[in-house]
Amino acid sequence: MEKKKIIGTDFDGIITDTDPVFREYIKRVTGKQFYREQITKYFYEECLPITKDDVEKAYQLMLKENVWSRMELVDGAKDTLMELAEKFDIVVITARPADARRQSEEFLKRKGIPFKEIHFIKEGNNKINLIKEFPFKFEAFIEDRLDFARGIALSGIKTYMLDYPWNRCLGETANLYRVSSWKEIRESLSAALS
Ligand SMILES: [Mg+2]
Repeated sequence: MEKKKIIGTDFDGIITDTDPVFREYIKRVTGKQFYREQITKYFYEECLPITKDDVEKAYQLMLKENVWSRMELVDGAKDTLMELAEKFDIVVITARPADARRQSEEFLKRKGIPFKEIHFIKEGNNKINLIKEFPFKFEAFIEDRLDFARGIALSGIKTYMLDYPWNRCLGETANLYRVSSWKEIRESLSAALS
């Protein structure tokens, strides 16, 4: 049997709509309500009047309350990944804290999201450093963090960046495609699926 080609995907913002939950926990910690359009940077403490310590407290509370296992899916993520999984192996790479591994894997299995592997990058590391260590090449990668997406695209991998306020601050680059939905990703990959 022919070996399947591989598609890589991020988790937060791509499979799960993590931002509303994160803002809810930021509110729990700081008492301040923020809105999606205010999240103009990937790191919330860089675009909101909150500290890195607030963000860390929110993270810890999310972990304690098992919130990584009960997020909402991004529209179209499950259907498209299921369809892609017929032709490709799906590899998830996330910058979530490593403590969230069990909750994250349980979530994917419970929701029926197909994945062959899930990798957690070390804090402060860039996804492209891990990707370069893999013995295989991705056909495509789906990511919402701008610097990760740019790095992956620059390495020659076709990269789809789901559009959000936090990734609009810099220009495009070769191999980097800004998309507004999973539907667009599916359409773009349709030739590979037929
Ligand atoms: Mg993300």
